[in-house]
Amino acid sequence: MDTNATDMQTEVVVLGSGPGGYTAAFRAADLGKKVILVERYPSLGGVCTNVGCIPSKALLHLARVITEAEEAAASGISFGKPKIDIERIRAWKNEVVSKGAKGIAGLAKQRNVSVVQGSGKFTAPHRLQVETPDGKNLRIAFEHCIIAAGSSVARIPGFPYDDPRLIDSTGALQLAAVPQRMLIIGGGIIGLEMACVYDALGAKVTVVELMDGLIPGADRDLIKPLEKRIRARYEAILLSTKVTKIEAKKEGLVASFEGKDAPAPQTYDCVLLAAGRRPNGREVGAEAADVGVNERGFIPVDKQCRTNVPHIFAIGDIVGEPMLAHKASHEAKIAAEVIAGHKTGFDALTIPSVAYTDPEIAWMGLTETEAKQQGIAYEKASFPWAASGRARSVGRTEGSTKLLYEPQTKRLLGAGIVGVNAGELIAEMVLALEMGADMEDIALTIHPHPTLSETPAFAAEMAEGSITDLYLPRKKSG
Ligand code: FAD
Repeated sequence: MDTNATDMQTEVVVLGSGPGGYTAAFRAADLGKKVILVERYPSLGGVCTNVGCIPSKALLHLARVITEAEEAAASGISFGKPKIDIERIRAWKNEVVSKGAKGIAGLAKQRNVSVVQGSGKFTAPHRLQVETPDGKNLRIAFEHCIIAAGSSVARIPGFPYDDPRLIDSTGALQLAAVPQRMLIIGGGIIGLEMACVYDALGAKVTVVELMDGLIPGADRDLIKPLEKRIRARYEAILLSTKVTKIEAKKEGLVASFEGKDAPAPQTYDCVLLAAGRRPNGREVGAEAADVGVNERGFIPVDKQCRTNVPHIFAIGDIVGEPMLAHKASHEAKIAAEVIAGHKTGFDALTIPSVAYTDPEIAWMGLTETEAKQQGIAYEKASFPWAASGRARSVGRTEGSTKLLYEPQTKRLLGAGIVGVNAGELIAEMVLALEMGADMEDIALTIHPHPTLSETPAFAAEMAEGSITDLYLPRKKSG
């Protein structure tokens, strides 16, 4: 290792402290490596902890409390209109975030991981330069590097970004105010989660989506219950429609639309741009280390999370879709373990996706849409939650649990769930897929009653022909 003119030397340097970066740093330290973790912001944890997964789920929790209280009126309990103390909500959400970030800092300390605050860039294949907040340039020489510098909000050119009424997901989570009328550009997971929060807090929400359906990655049958519920609650859902212009006027932001559902120009108090994220691959000086970056800004890696430069690894949002925290942390462990000499690589069968909307939508493995597109033979069993005792007891029978399986072996290929807590329920199906379970395995696993967790087992019983909680005309007896 070239150690000339360096301020620090280490075996492993990790660039970025999100769920990818901190996991990689901690795993490498636990495997005996000397580790430096570089993060530009004072708070560790990346997008997920500070401005992503955690604060959004905190606000979605409050949204659920509000809507459940509203809906309890139908079963005889009325709470009245909630009093929204926006400052207290903000403070509570900030506490949730800061506890997480401090926890990560504590874990770094316990493992002797050195945290360096500043913005890092490669200056050579074994050198990183970090510009610290006080303007100094720290030079770090390393044997191995793990790039975990994440992603940023994608912007549509030409919008008035200097107007504080035009916000992105970070601005939405700051919760400056509850607008009266709000436009959300993007009907993907992030846009719809924020729509759920602001609707519950009292905003009149419009969602505009370029594609012909919400959450394009999920099967259409899973989207239907969500779409039905939010069409009834929100001001408008505009599909196959785009925003062509936003003009900042005194009375509000005036949005012009084009496409299938385009209305005349409309004035909003707030516009949230949630039209995707872009990787930060071009912002780390990759060329100085000869690390390849593709045309979309991703850093390509192999199954060991290694870039084209053998001692430099990359993980998380910066290496590709899906941009999810659990993918980042899984890859993090692989990279750290490969650096420590383990023979390992990415061989997970699936990365589950969850929209924490109301109802939630979760899926894993093969989707029906993919099966059809790719000509993969499958059979399916879809259990309607109207036949679940637990779904009836919580007043949410609109859900369904669908299993896709191989026609010959009945081995699980994929699963999709829509309904309250779908995000929790999908994990069992991920395990089933990883274990090579078939419909009989799932059907014969005793699930506690009454739970929503029974619904995958009921779907498997449908596939087996042994279901008794529904009447299905006999085809095969088991
Ligand atoms: P990041 O979390 O983006 O972390 C990268 C870190 O690197 C950042 O802290 C950044 O400051 C730092 N950095 C970047 N460049 C430099 C540099 N040059 N020098 C020093 N530091 C640098 N995913 C889920 O799985 N579940 C969810 O529920 C979920 N909800 C989300 C909600 C929202 C609103 C958003 C925006 C995202 C959500 N995500 C969710 C996605 C998730 O946050 C990301 O997939 C995850 O954070 C990626 O982790 P990462 O480690 O790759 O990068």
